[in-house]
Amino acid sequence: MFVDSHCHLSFPELQGRLPQILSEMQAARVAGALCICTTLEEFPSVLALASAHENLWASVGVHPDTEGLAEPSEDELCRLAAQPKVVAIGETGLDYYRLNGRSVTDMAWQRDRFRTHIRAARRSDLPLIIHTRSASDDTLAILREEGAGPAGDGVRGVFHCFTETLAVARAALDLGFHISFSGIVSFRNAADLREVARFVPLDRCLIETDSPYLAPVPYRGKTNSPAYVPHVASVVAAEKGLPVDTVAEATTRNFERLFRLTVPALVEADRP
Ligand SMILES: [Zn+2]
Ligand SMILES: [Zn+2]
Repeated sequence: MFVDSHCHLSFPELQGRLPQILSEMQAARVAGALCICTTLEEFPSVLALASAHENLWASVGVHPDTEGLAEPSEDELCRLAAQPKVVAIGETGLDYYRLNGRSVTDMAWQRDRFRTHIRAARRSDLPLIIHTRSASDDTLAILREEGAGPAGDGVRGVFHCFTETLAVARAALDLGFHISFSGIVSFRNAADLREVARFVPLDRCLIETDSPYLAPVPYRGKTNSPAYVPHVASVVAAEKGLPVDTVAEATTRNFERLFRLTVPALVEADRP
């Protein structure tokens, strides 16, 4: 069975379709999904999904692209993270892709927010969901400064929707982090990323959809859903020369170990 380690079921594209999505997940042998929070305002609806469904979990955090909404404090993140089914802090990190006329120096607020999340993750002993785009040097530097890594105090987590270089993957692995591949790995122009998929040890790989965005081939351009995560697994499996079931099993085990939870077994669909 498969698990989607990163999706946004509370986004408007998916919100009204939950029963359909859950049954499509079951038909595709996707046993569970982690619902990712991007704003404090959104958190109640993310938590509600996880509370209502045994096979959904929640994170709490404010995305680096979020502006003009509530700014999280370490205390508030820890308070929200203490609720049942909240298994991660994030998504957090740095995104210098859309600077909108600003310089990297102007983005100190993003770096401060990232540090707040790292400290909350350490205090609540939860893994970090890291989003990094056009900002890998600062992302890695801040993680090191904040004491992440095997030599540090155990701040752990995943670089989600990985699109960086082999060197960045190696640095993230050296810090003890997992690497999560999304549908991007299936895109025709993503040969470099497929090389990263061959390189990352299977016991440090996760798979995700980041739905509703980034649907994998053959659904590219359509609304994505956790039910499509097996297509990500197929590409990773092909690159590694492994059966897809091996990748499904390993990534599910990695997910359980990193987030310290048990994915419930798939319920057999009703047979005619
Ligand atoms: Zn992200
Ligand atoms: Zn996301």
